[in-house]
Amino acid sequence: MKYPESLLKLARALSRLPGVGPKTAQKLALHLAFHREEALELKEALQGLERLSTCRLCGNLAEGELCPICQDESRERSVLAVVESVSDLFALERSGEFHGLYHVLGGALNPLEGVGPKELNLETLWPRLAGVKEVVLATSMTVEGEATALYLAEELKRLGVKATRLAYGLPVGGSLEYVDEVTLGRALEGRKPV
Ligand SMILES: [Zn+2]
Repeated sequence: MKYPESLLKLARALSRLPGVGPKTAQKLALHLAFHREEALELKEALQGLERLSTCRLCGNLAEGELCPICQDESRERSVLAVVESVSDLFALERSGEFHGLYHVLGGALNPLEGVGPKELNLETLWPRLAGVKEVVLATSMTVEGEATALYLAEELKRLGVKATRLAYGLPVGGSLEYVDEVTLGRALEGRKPV
């Protein structure tokens, strides 16, 4: 064996991260081997992940029962943005244009893959609608995201809750997390009733 096993193990783990190829993984592993303080900081940060759980209300990441957004008294409680994933939630937060609360579905409708309404985090959505004036359907501009928005729009109509959709201008076929903040902010501002 050419390399120490511990170094190989670290490089292997790093190479599984998105956007990190084997070469970069090896470089990072070597860097950490020679910068023990950084390695220790990383170790502590990784151990901190054990404290993360799912927010009881919205499905965002949380430490404890509620996420920081649900705990924030200054957020508008009457506006709810429905997103597919926590990374989409983070994308909307980066735009700085949304001041309401979120609801994370944990995916989008995809009948071919066996993802129906029951597979999404919807059971916890309906009880949250009391006192909500508007639900922003902030699912992706993909076929699945559009189908999910359509399904939710119909359900919300039945319940008498106003639903809006992000304005067009967002790239079709894309996930929100790859849209820049300015575009996302504008799409939010220009949202339309559905
Ligand atoms: Zn929450």
